[in-house]
Amino acid sequence: MSQPIALLSVYDKTGLIEFAQGLHAAGVRLLGSGGTAKKIRDNGIPIEDVSDITKAPEMLGGRVKTLHPAVHGGILARSIPSDEQDLIANSISPISIVVCNLYPFTSTIASPNCTLASAIEEIDIGGVTLLRAAAKNHSRVSVLSDPTDYSTFLDAWTSGKGEVSLGLRNKLALKAFEVTSAYDEAISGYFREQYASAELEGPVDPIQRMVLRYGANPHQKPAQTFVAEGELPFKVLCGSPGYINLLDALNSYALVKELQEALNLPAAASFKHVSPAGAAVGLELDDVEKQVYGVDDLKEALTPLACAYARARGADRMSSFGDFIGLSAPCDLATARIISREVSDGIIAPGYTPEALDVLKKKKAGKYCVLQMDPKYTPPAIETRQVYGIHMQQKRNDAKIGPELFSNLVSQNKELPSAATTDLIVATLALKYTQSNSVAYALHGAIIGLGAGQQSRIHCTRLAGSKADIWWLRHHPRVLSLPFKKGVKRAEKANAIDLFVGGEELEGGERTSWELLFDSVPAALSESERKEWIGKLDGVACSSDAFFPFPDNVHRARRSGVKYLAAASGSVMDAECIKAADEHGMVFAHTALRLFHH
Ligand code: 5GP
Repeated sequence: MSQPIALLSVYDKTGLIEFAQGLHAAGVRLLGSGGTAKKIRDNGIPIEDVSDITKAPEMLGGRVKTLHPAVHGGILARSIPSDEQDLIANSISPISIVVCNLYPFTSTIASPNCTLASAIEEIDIGGVTLLRAAAKNHSRVSVLSDPTDYSTFLDAWTSGKGEVSLGLRNKLALKAFEVTSAYDEAISGYFREQYASAELEGPVDPIQRMVLRYGANPHQKPAQTFVAEGELPFKVLCGSPGYINLLDALNSYALVKELQEALNLPAAASFKHVSPAGAAVGLELDDVEKQVYGVDDLKEALTPLACAYARARGADRMSSFGDFIGLSAPCDLATARIISREVSDGIIAPGYTPEALDVLKKKKAGKYCVLQMDPKYTPPAIETRQVYGIHMQQKRNDAKIGPELFSNLVSQNKELPSAATTDLIVATLALKYTQSNSVAYALHGAIIGLGAGQQSRIHCTRLAGSKADIWWLRHHPRVLSLPFKKGVKRAEKANAIDLFVGGEELEGGERTSWELLFDSVPAALSESERKEWIGKLDGVACSSDAFFPFPDNVHRARRSGVKYLAAASGSVMDAECIKAADEHGMVFAHTALRLFHH
């Protein structure tokens, strides 16, 4: 058997001499690139230069050192007759061990003095090629990309008398692939920053990367959004989206797109802090609803899309203050007019009529964020995020939500009207894009109460229930006839109504400022008025993003008019929860689908 050959070409020379000494002592012939060979030779260990076998000098100031068929033929040749004959025909010796680590690209670009030219010079070409070639041929070749592996490898090589196990070669190859992948990611990240930048104001043309003013908080700089391949699937038509805006925009668009697909009606969502405050499809509004949602005085006729947004925005007006809006269909003038009167941060839609865009562009003194989404965009099947420096990967939640999800009716009452199915779809789809735990109540194709991000299920059910109660109390005749002074702003009215229906006793300055909003101070809603009115709420649908662990959820939901329930099964208390639903004559669907979202 001919003498095994190791090729050494390392930037980081940690542990190199001991390793080279060990390989030499084990009878390995050493070959090295310029600096590596010199260092080893200077320490009295015999080593040949790569140029001795390539018969070509290093050139272009080090850009070409090991890039040669004599090197890569020696690495890539398999133990098969045709490859072996090729080696003989070209007088190339097979290489068994490759030891290589790369130019320090990451630390170079981290330096404040780094120029484009110096970054480019730190892009290792031959080293990456050595690592990839050796890793590719790991069925025969061992590749060492990390000095911490030298001693383990040497032990294995010596005790194996010049052989190491396939298991070890596999592990070393995987490490080399990880090294080249991280290296390439650092290079593409750097050039994305250099060449794919958008102006802060955002260009109209699609781009691959966009600088964001900051991340979740103002001190979290720098911040950016990008796609690794192709272009960002949205354009910025106005304003400049922030990090949380984009979280809201992309989640809300995903939700409305699925709502429209599931129910064949235009859909709208009003997002805040990465959960919907409201979401709805475009069912027509009656006169009371128009008044409750503050659109009774709109000059434009309400389109189905405008109805959807009015409902989404009107579910929880306080939470929707400063929302990010998602629309499933191109924004029309009526919808834009509703938006123009509300305090809102931005909107994402698959398009805008010219008149609608004119209206929106005037909002927030021209800074309103208007994003146009490519409706043909399909996100990749696998999604990756990083938490505390650790990558996590999962299949995207592509669960389809349609009427068939609610076919397993486990209650005695099995009458599920199609309007209730619509509401269950709206509630369940909203939960798919709501921070967990979550419970949603829906009526007339719209969320009317949503409890998000609570650690206990009953707190979600209570929170959603209390929001549904407030929503319903806003329909009370005494609320509809509250004698607001002329000129009171919409948000002030919403806050004042919330205090009125919430029933808290106001004192001191808070009471005075509340009273100042009215021509004549309204008497508080009494407990019995409130109870009597809430008792009239019925036919509400309620969905949960996971099973109900205790029947208290069912009882609480019933107190806010819930008649139709949907939740996954799987609780030891399933039978008790069904019993509670039967006690109230409710219709309960077990979905077998958990919808946690984080
Ligand atoms: P040395 O110190 O031995 O002169 O250079 C070692 C470094 O050169 C290693 O980091 C290795 O990845 C890199 N290298 C090896 N071959 C080539 C080549 O052909 N071109 C370039 N640009 N770098 C190489």
